Amino acid sequence: MKRIAVLTSGGDAPGMNAAIRAVVRKGIYDGLEVYGINYGYAGMVAGDFRRLTIDDVGDTISRGGTILYSARYPEFAKREGQLKGIEQLKKFGIDGLIVIGGDGSYRGGAALTKLGFPTIGIPGTIDNDIPGTDYTLGFDTAINTVLDSVDKIRDTATSHIRTFVVEVMGRNAGDIALWTGIGSGAESIVIPEKEFTMEEVVAEIQEGRARGKKHTIIMLAEGVMSGNEFAEKLSKFEEFHTRVTVLGHVQRGGSPSAKDRVLGSIFGYNAVKMLEEGKGGLCVGVKGDEVVFNDIIDTLENQKHLPLLSLYQINKEISF
Ligand code: ATP
Repeated sequence: MKRIAVLTSGGDAPGMNAAIRAVVRKGIYDGLEVYGINYGYAGMVAGDFRRLTIDDVGDTISRGGTILYSARYPEFAKREGQLKGIEQLKKFGIDGLIVIGGDGSYRGGAALTKLGFPTIGIPGTIDNDIPGTDYTLGFDTAINTVLDSVDKIRDTATSHIRTFVVEVMGRNAGDIALWTGIGSGAESIVIPEKEFTMEEVVAEIQEGRARGKKHTIIMLAEGVMSGNEFAEKLSKFEEFHTRVTVLGHVQRGGSPSAKDRVLGSIFGYNAVKMLEEGKGGLCVGVKGDEVVFNDIIDTLENQKHLPLLSLYQINKEISF
């Protein structure tokens, strides 16, 4: 292995730069040449490659977003796009590839692996929805960003005795809502992985009010329904003076937390090691304190992500 490349794909996530930096520095430390591919798979097919030096990744570990930019490029789901990508990788003399992104990006990596090109996946998405790892890059920063906002919302909720529905990201996964629900002391957490009824949520609000609680926070995962839809359903029961906050893309930005910087560094370092050991077709992750490696195809086809559902019950028993 003499020359490797790295790209970021799908939604950006804080900590991606830490991973890119680790790939570049570890690669160069071991005597490899490292190339960055701009704009994910779109850039790969277009031949948008650049050699990265130690300096190129200097002063990037604290920056959000991705210095390699990201893109959605559905054409890569077709074999024709994948073959064009491999043609470009060969043209630039690349022997192995590291893909940082979510499950869609992993599918691209799995396709390249099936076509014989050694590829390693690094889980990078704020949604925390990738199987084979407890945490993805960006999740920790995102939940801290959410908490920062919800603490502020709580001030105004209390002042006006209001109910706030806070819609958070996560696609079809409830991890962000679950962790920030507990972290903000939300009265109710609504996630796709747990059945709920509006009657239950209403009862939770009423119980709190009966005890003299001045505010109610409902943490809603976007995968269940929109905040406005939820508020509309709530209004059928009683006038709760409901307000909806959709936090949106602020959740994706910002300087990565300590945890995301460390995870990014661990993932990047180990991804390079795997390529050096001739082990393509893997994705790196963490389970507890251990770094783990899973088959990328098996991860996508046979494993399923589930949030830490014990948090759901804990919240029920401590937030009434
Ligand atoms: P996030 O979870 O943050 O949205 P993601 O990686 O899941 O990140 P996607 O838009 O689903 O984001 O995928 C990113 C890119 O991966 C796509 O634009 C496409 O280029 C590639 N990709 C997605 N699905 C496939 C597939 N089935 N085969 C090959 N490549 C794919």
